[in-house]
Amino acid sequence: MIRARIWGVVRAFLWGVFMSVVLCCLFGDNQHLELNRREQPPQYPQLVKEVCPMTIFRGGCLCGAVRYETTADPLNQRVCHCQECQKAIGAAFNARVLMSLDDVSITGPVSTFYSSETLERGSCSRCGSSIFSRRTPAGVIGLTAGSLDDSSLFNPDMHFWVSSKQPWLEIADDLPQYLEGPPSKGY
Ligand SMILES: [Zn+2]
Ligand SMILES: [Zn+2]
Repeated sequence: MIRARIWGVVRAFLWGVFMSVVLCCLFGDNQHLELNRREQPPQYPQLVKEVCPMTIFRGGCLCGAVRYETTADPLNQRVCHCQECQKAIGAAFNARVLMSLDDVSITGPVSTFYSSETLERGSCSRCGSSIFSRRTPAGVIGLTAGSLDDSSLFNPDMHFWVSSKQPWLEIADDLPQYLEGPPSKGY
């Protein structure tokens, strides 16, 4: 009887030891890892610059020697009906995408001509396509909408110098029209 009780106690003890070993094997390492994880310095999420949808304008001349590409959104997109633009572009008006000079890269052979003290007009030296009008002191450049690879990207916001627009041309959109230059800035 006593022997049976002693055996019972020993068996319970052994069972306890066995279960401890089993539990330690099952969860011991995990707890260790958990501890390690907690000891690591807190991880801060990377500050990711939010990517805004930006339209990249690409284009070039007729022969392909001159190419350009923009790296930022335009300052404005306007249609100028002044006679100087008509002459320079060889068209009824100058639809152009105005960019900051720093945001446009141009490659290829370009000829330039100052049509006024500050406005320089650029065309391909080979084929003569009109590519841009540039005001370096103001840091801006207008890319001709006709030289864009994808003309559907052009989204004008204004007509100006409509006092000299070609007589046959009827402006059918609801955009603001200015008889002479735009109300603010000269471009
Ligand atoms: Zn060309
Ligand atoms: Zn003009």
